Parts: sequence; C-alpha cells; structure tokens
Amino acid sequence: MSELPKARIATASLAGCFGCHMAILDIDERLIELMKLVDVDRSPLTDKKKFTERCDIGIIEGGCCNEENVHVLHDFRRNCDILIALGQCAIMGGLPAMRNAIMHSDAPLRECLDEAYITGKYIRNTTHNVPNDPALPLLLDEVYPCSQVVEIDYQIPGCAPTGDVIFDTLFKLLTGKFRGFEREMIRFD
Ligand code: SF4
Repeated sequence: MSELPKARIATASLAGCFGCHMAILDIDERLIELMKLVDVDRSPLTDKKKFTERCDIGIIEGGCCNEENVHVLHDFRRNCDILIALGQCAIMGGLPAMRNAIMHSDAPLRECLDEAYITGKYIRNTTHNVPNDPALPLLLDEVYPCSQVVEIDYQIPGCAPTGDVIFDTLFKLLTGKFRGFEREMIRFD
C-alpha cells in the first residue's frame, strides 16, 4: 500500500460546528494508515490558509452562509479533482439552515439577526447593535448546501459522519475501490 504515490487532500470548514473535522480525528489509529497515503495541504488541521499545490481530494464541512464561504468553496472546486461534502451541513445546510425557515417576515435575515443579537429572551448585548464590522463577511439571504454553489462529487452523510465511514470512503477512493457506501455504515437508527 505504501508503494502508491501519495495523494494530496485539503479540508475546509464553512458554516458548520467543526464537528465533522473532529469526526475525521475519530479515525483514531487508522490515521497512521491514512497518512501513508496522503499529504494534507490547505486545512484547519495544518493551519495552511491557501493551496500550495493542486489537490486530489477536497473535503468540505458546512454549507454556505456568507460570501467568504462561497469564495472558499469555489477555490476548492478550482483546486481539487474530487470534492466531497462531509456531513449534513455541507449536504443540505444542516443546523445553520434553520434560519431559512423564517418565512413570515419581509426581511427574514434582519429578523433573525435582531433576535440573535437584540430582542432574544436571553440576549445580554448592551450595545443593542447587530455586529457590522466591515471585516465581517456579508451574510447570504439563506444558507445554501454546497451542491447549490458548485458541483459536488461525493456526499458523506451524518451529523457528524462516523470516523468509520470517513475512513472507509477515503481509503477506498484513494485505492480505487470505492463502489458506494455499505448500507450499514450510513444507518443512523
Ligand atoms: Fe457539525 Fe453536524 Fe454540521 Fe458536521 S454536520 S458541521 S457535526 S452540525
């Protein structure tokens, strides 16, 4: 196995809770096996903020809730041969997309921000302002799944996906043996 040329992978966390990245660490001791097959490029795991080379596989956690997420996702699509949406937030928006359900207002995003920072029952925001520093990325009108922004090649389901399914998928993709998910690996009942 170690004779295979090493693949290059990159990961990003967009609008998610970082739980999917923690699930990558749930691969546990098999990380040693995996690291014989890959080098990690841009990723929160390496703290590299830019691609240093084109990558074979990009792994995306989280959907797109702001303009920076969209920019990063496009950058991954441009620089990765295979793009994987990891977890429900990347696949269908997940928890952050709950704000998409605010339908009864003329300005749903405004209403959401007001409740989060000003009017919410447990808010202790003495400034009574929604944060508006120019350095903050602009929020999108809704939270979008990755597949609505770029083409996604594979989706690994779960919140978070198990270390087993992440390892199995990556290992099989890297060794040319991926034929889809085993049914038992993506059951959550
Ligand atoms: Fe977190 Fe679940 Fe979303 Fe992954 S899918 S980023 S674990 S909320």
